[in-house]
Amino acid sequence: MWFGGAALGEYKEGVSNELCYWFESRDPGTEKLQSKYILYIVRRPTKMKVMENEKTCKFCNKALIGRADKKFCDSECRSSYYNALNRNANNFMRKINRTLSKNRRILKKLNPDGKATIHKNQLIKLKFDFNYHTNTYQTKAGKVYYFCYDQGYLPLDNGYFALVERQEYVL
Ligand SMILES: [Zn+2]
Repeated sequence: MWFGGAALGEYKEGVSNELCYWFESRDPGTEKLQSKYILYIVRRPTKMKVMENEKTCKFCNKALIGRADKKFCDSECRSSYYNALNRNANNFMRKINRTLSKNRRILKKLNPDGKATIHKNQLIKLKFDFNYHTNTYQTKAGKVYYFCYDQGYLPLDNGYFALVERQEYVL
């Protein structure tokens, strides 16, 4: 019969930051130990790290040795970090652009003639995202139109919206 588990430094005295996994087999009748496997995995001493204010690589999190202003282990970690950063920024921008395009498409669909009054539920049903617009336009009376590119909306009373199309984009 096999047992297994993980314990912190249990099988190696004096090494408290080591995580060890162990498996053992015992005779089902006598419970006598038949064999035992221990696998040690060295863990980073995370508590010590905070105490000593140790600097770590911004990409792989390994401890840094050398100059105080060092931020990465090497140029490989540096470029991997900035690649990941750019990738995140690009993905974020792509997501916003997609959302804005989708919003515009929804407004255009509900406003094929350039002027319409609709209910908010129609926008919600088409998964319009009210968090994103490209610009706003405030009238002298203080009304605020929200635009997704050339397609705009003005919130009216009782959940209704006036949809408009902006012609100034034709240069
Ligand atoms: Zn690194």
